[in-house]
Amino acid sequence: MSRGDAPHAVVVGAGIVGAATAYELARRGWAVTVLDRHEAAWGASGRNPGFVWLHTRAAGIQMELGLAGRRLYDELVEELDDFEFRASGGMVFFLDEAQEKVVRAFVDDRRAAGLPMELLDGAAAREACPVLPERVAGATWNPLDAHIRTSALVAALLEAAGRQGPEVRVVQGTAAVGLEVAAGRCTGARTEAGVVGGDAVVLAAGVWTPELLGPLGLPLELVPMRLQVAETEPAPFRFGPLLYGPTALKQYAFVRELPGYEEDPFWHPLERSFPGVEFLELAAQRRDGRVLLGCPMDFPGMDDRPTLAGLGLTSAVLADSLPALAGLSVERNWAGLLPQTRDALPVLGPVPGVDGLVLATGHVFGNLAGPISGRLVAQVLAGEEPDLDLSPFRADRPAVAEPLDRHGHW
Ligand SMILES: Cc1cc2nc3c(=O)[nH]c(=O)nc-3n(C[C@H](O)[C@H](O)[C@H](O)COP(=O)(O)OP(=O)(O)OC[C@H]3O[C@@H](n4cnc5c(N)ncnc54)[C@H](O)[C@@H]3O)c2cc1C
Repeated sequence: MSRGDAPHAVVVGAGIVGAATAYELARRGWAVTVLDRHEAAWGASGRNPGFVWLHTRAAGIQMELGLAGRRLYDELVEELDDFEFRASGGMVFFLDEAQEKVVRAFVDDRRAAGLPMELLDGAAAREACPVLPERVAGATWNPLDAHIRTSALVAALLEAAGRQGPEVRVVQGTAAVGLEVAAGRCTGARTEAGVVGGDAVVLAAGVWTPELLGPLGLPLELVPMRLQVAETEPAPFRFGPLLYGPTALKQYAFVRELPGYEEDPFWHPLERSFPGVEFLELAAQRRDGRVLLGCPMDFPGMDDRPTLAGLGLTSAVLADSLPALAGLSVERNWAGLLPQTRDALPVLGPVPGVDGLVLATGHVFGNLAGPISGRLVAQVLAGEEPDLDLSPFRADRPAVAEPLDRHGHW
């Protein structure tokens, strides 16, 4: 319960969302206990390639959340230890006229949605990003996209939470195995070592969150989507911007509705060789020169292991699209589970009918939306007016109350 005079929150999950929630609560004078079954950033947060990616956020509430999330980074860079933040900008390159027709409409749509996006011709694209080959006909450019090392951000948020006062504990290797709920109120999380009581429990356990809600008869439809990443040795050259290939665009519902959109130009021929696996064609370079390549996407349940098909698809498409990378050796590859919601929005705020239980989960684009989600949840718990209206993120909205087999398009 309360420690001294301070209210106490139990945060389940030490990914980007749980760490941001802990930081924002500690800043508001709360005592916080963060529980993680494994260790900080063990889940999707430690496995993603670090895109803080506004480029393809749908107009409306997705973009509003994204822009608020991006603005928050300007504060975090000042407040936290280094987490390899780079205001890199981002590009989607294209190769031919069929793609260009849609990309032009995409740029118009993005500008109307609030992004300062430009269209570059091939020469300007190569100048901004020397790894692009001659056959690239042009690229979009959004200066607001940025790159981070998400595991370093999680560590920095937890470290800074601890600096706010002595009442922040991060307990790793300890799972919440259940919730203490009686008479419509949640009073703590059960672990194998006993109950950790609190004035509030925040569930920020990513794709694993439904495990804790199910036994209470509170269904939450998050679909685990497996994404894979390959990481190369440090490259002997540098490229700044985050890169999406043209084939990644088909993953976005609003792109598929743009005038002139057709399916075929947005499939790389080699993608069709791996049935059941789709591809989010992307590349980015870390500060140490290593290049992150991804991302094959499929739905094998809770299996978070990388596959030969995933590595094959990544190598085949990206070595073809970006031949300058083809000679780099692959040092590591891995997979992680993204918590997919039908409307690609997170689930944020109190659980209806259970006082003291709060959700902060369902993040499809958690690098962009994770830190702002932590702030919004902390604002609600502290009785402040949240920076954004939380009703689009409610746990009982139809998009998360209905079963979903797999993702449609973001
Ligand atoms: C390969 C990959 C690529 C991605 N690319 C991007 C990208 O470039 N940009 C972007 O914005 N997003 C990307 N995403 C999505 C992004 O990673 C997620 O939105 C974000 O990391 C979710 O953070 P989280 O804190 O909610 O969950 P997680 O990071 O998954 O953290 C959940 C934590 O909860 C812990 N936990 C689970 N159950 C319990 C329990 N019962 N008790 C205690 N602890 C528990 C886990 O150990 C874990 O550490 C990607 C995801 C993947 C997998």
